Amino acid sequence: MRVFKFGGASVKSASAVKNVGEVLRTQSEGPLVVIISAMGKITNKLEKLMDAYFHNKDDKRILYKEILNFHSEIIKDLKIAENDYYEVENLLIELECKIEKKRDETSSYDVEYDRIVPFGELISTKIVSTYLNKIGYKNRWIDARNFVITTNKNRAANVIWEESVPLINSSLKPLVERQTIVTQGFIGRGLNHKNTTLGREGSDYTASIFAYALDAESVTIWKDVDGVMNADPRKFENAVLIEKLSYNEAIELAYYGASVIHPKTIQPLKNKGIPLYVKSFVDPAKPGTVVLENESRTLNETQCYIVKENQSMITIASKDFSFIVEDNLEIIFNAFNTAGIQLNLMQNSAISFMASFNEDELKANYLSEILIEKFNVSLAKGHTLLTIFNYNKTNSEMEEIIGQRNVVLEQKSNSALQLLLI
Ligand code: ADP
Ligand code: ASP
Ligand code: MG
Repeated sequence: MRVFKFGGASVKSASAVKNVGEVLRTQSEGPLVVIISAMGKITNKLEKLMDAYFHNKDDKRILYKEILNFHSEIIKDLKIAENDYYEVENLLIELECKIEKKRDETSSYDVEYDRIVPFGELISTKIVSTYLNKIGYKNRWIDARNFVITTNKNRAANVIWEESVPLINSSLKPLVERQTIVTQGFIGRGLNHKNTTLGREGSDYTASIFAYALDAESVTIWKDVDGVMNADPRKFENAVLIEKLSYNEAIELAYYGASVIHPKTIQPLKNKGIPLYVKSFVDPAKPGTVVLENESRTLNETQCYIVKENQSMITIASKDFSFIVEDNLEIIFNAFNTAGIQLNLMQNSAISFMASFNEDELKANYLSEILIEKFNVSLAKGHTLLTIFNYNKTNSEMEEIIGQRNVVLEQKSNSALQLLLI
């Protein structure tokens, strides 16, 4: 039994969907679960639609129309009778009805987000599954929300393994043995029976949840790059492929923000010793990267560069000149947790605490509101966080990398150097 995951880029157009059909036809054998994300950048569009709906903005209907047209165009280009897609149509109508209905004023932003944004995955999997059946690649569409049972924490739900694993084993496994299953990444159902999502880019994680529960022999994540590289090839033209990584190295790279794999993906696979392949859907014959257990460090001296743009930097200083030690740190960390902000880098001195996190105006303002009573807070945007993993550079090489920018925070550990630049 194997698990394949296709992300947004692999299903961004009709020709991309056809290519998925080709990859499946040539690369799959034996029982298979196929996890698919929303098409192209549709999740971003749905987030905008959700915001417009929540705040009753004028562009709500325009955004819905764009989503409708995007999918209709793909269906048309796939050249399959439109009546075969009535289930997709039903989903689009359901979405339209949701955004037209007056909002329940007691419902929070995050709850409403999880009602609307999962439509991206539901629609994309219906389209791909229908298309595959039509070209003779027999498969069955399954609703992942029946199997991925989570906490009720909207937009950042945690899997409840004790609930999900038995369900997948008893109800899904027999189906996988009979035919290929097509299902959604990213979405789940809370214990309160309402929709949840696992956090942006969470479909990789879904693949590893299913693989863990099914004791799969491997997971393959199909990407628009040759595999995991030592830097994002869009940003570093000399990036090279890493053929083999240990689970721990992959966890560290993902943790520092190498966005090619979602950070939560590796741990469940590591626990069961399931290998993860990251391969190119453009050129499936290429070997790609394999992540598996390995006692020794497989990266050796290979330096990896991870760039996170759009970082906010916050400086927090106590108003009463008290030291930033345990009691104040407790207040500060609680505030980050309450505001739903994850820190990418942090540092503290005697009287101040500095940190960087992904820019998000709403969350940053909320954080300031919580802290302002006890602390002086200053926020600045537009920073870049550069992490060099396996750091081993001379001063002049570093000067070249940093260029005209200023280093505002610097942190060094055994394995990585992190610089916050402006
Ligand atoms: P998906 O379609 O599965 O969501 P993503 O767009 O999230 O795929 O991930 C693929 C992209 O990740 C690549 O196009 C590449 O630009 C970027 N990327 C960032 N870091 C790396 C890295 N270290 N190795 C390979 N790709 C990387
Ligand atoms: N569609 C979701 C997102 O864009 C999940 C994923 O693609 O992994 O974040
Ligand atoms: Mg992605």
